[in-house]
Amino acid sequence: MSQKPFWQTKTLSQMSSEEWESLCDGCGRCCIYILHNEETGDVFETDVGCKLFDPKTRRCRDYKNRSARVPDCVRLTPQNAKSLHWLPETCAYRRLANGKKLKKWHPLISGDPNSVVAAGIAVSPHLISENDIDDNLLESRITKER
Ligand code: SF4
Ligand code: SF4
Repeated sequence: MSQKPFWQTKTLSQMSSEEWESLCDGCGRCCIYILHNEETGDVFETDVGCKLFDPKTRRCRDYKNRSARVPDCVRLTPQNAKSLHWLPETCAYRRLANGKKLKKWHPLISGDPNSVVAAGIAVSPHLISENDIDDNLLESRITKER
């Protein structure tokens, strides 16, 4: 009889830090600027990334010190994963917090870290940095509705 994987048997709170980190599919979509329309509730993605985000690797350049260097960076926890509605619907933390399954392309299931790219979920490697754009121009950088 095969054993079920940890994400099917443990709650987010029960996971080890290694298991927790492995849930991140590396899409990078929580490290880009998103715009909210407060009247309609719509959320739009832009092609502008956080100053610490490396679009080629889709990783934070200083993950360990991210909160100190970027105070706006929201730290995901088992407690807030359910309520962060701006996270993409594909985000593993959001999905598990809402009782959903991981997507078939998730690297933990596919065994391939690039399956998130092949599935069209990852951000573009051509994002620009927030350092290179004026805040007033963010609206002109919208790429799609989330
Ligand atoms: S949106 Fe979720 S899965 Fe994607 S990079 Fe952020 S934390 Fe990881
Ligand atoms: S500080 Fe790092 S983890 Fe936080 S939004 Fe920026 S790139 Fe992403």
